Amino acid sequence: MLKIELSSRQKKILEIVKAEGPITGENIAEKLHLTRATLRPDLAILTMAGFLDARPRVGYFYSGKNANQLLGEKLRKLSVKDYKSMPVVVTEETSVYDTICTMFLEDVGTIFVIKKEGYLVGVVSRKDLLQVAIGKQDLNSVPVGIVMSRMPNLITCKMNDTLFFAAQQMMKHQVDALPVVRPFAGKKDQWEVIGRVTKTTLVRAFVELGQATEV
Ligand code: ADP
Repeated sequence: MLKIELSSRQKKILEIVKAEGPITGENIAEKLHLTRATLRPDLAILTMAGFLDARPRVGYFYSGKNANQLLGEKLRKLSVKDYKSMPVVVTEETSVYDTICTMFLEDVGTIFVIKKEGYLVGVVSRKDLLQVAIGKQDLNSVPVGIVMSRMPNLITCKMNDTLFFAAQQMMKHQVDALPVVRPFAGKKDQWEVIGRVTKTTLVRAFVELGQATEV
């Protein structure tokens, strides 16, 4: 694991390569009055982190990217398939009462609603349920299918989408969660729910990126 924070020696190496690259490891070492072997880990880190590029027999040169650009690149590469969590689903006949219980038991803020056959038909959020709950209806007799947001207006994402794309969708459509879907039984307009991406997912990715960047 490599902290994005660079050591003062690594910063000096970057300055030298910026000013004089391409430059060999030997020459960088000379300028710093150190041995090539002492510099080897620093050069490896700077190369693996993307600050420097190395070409055999040419030497090191500056990649031209600053820490923010590198972090941005890293961020845009995160994939839904690596961060998604398990979806929580109920069928559309499930009562609002039972859906609320499921929300508490599973500790989620959004529940996906499926047909008995298994494909996605709706999404129900905390506020959707609160809205019914403050009314006068008997929550045991209202099916969740009545209160959910439904297809074809659902915002979804796929396994191979980037987490960044999922986040943009959530911002644009002002929703807290997206079902991760794949075609249901090979049909074009029916979807099987295979995961979920929520604001919590994004917070987790944000914290991981902030703590360290794997190289
Ligand atoms: P809450 O309303 O509890 O704060 P959201 O902001 O996610 O949660 O939901 C706002 C509205 O958008 C709700 O009516 C909900 O049914 C709907 N909604 C939530 N997620 C989606 C989604 N992925 N696609 C379409 N509509 C959604």
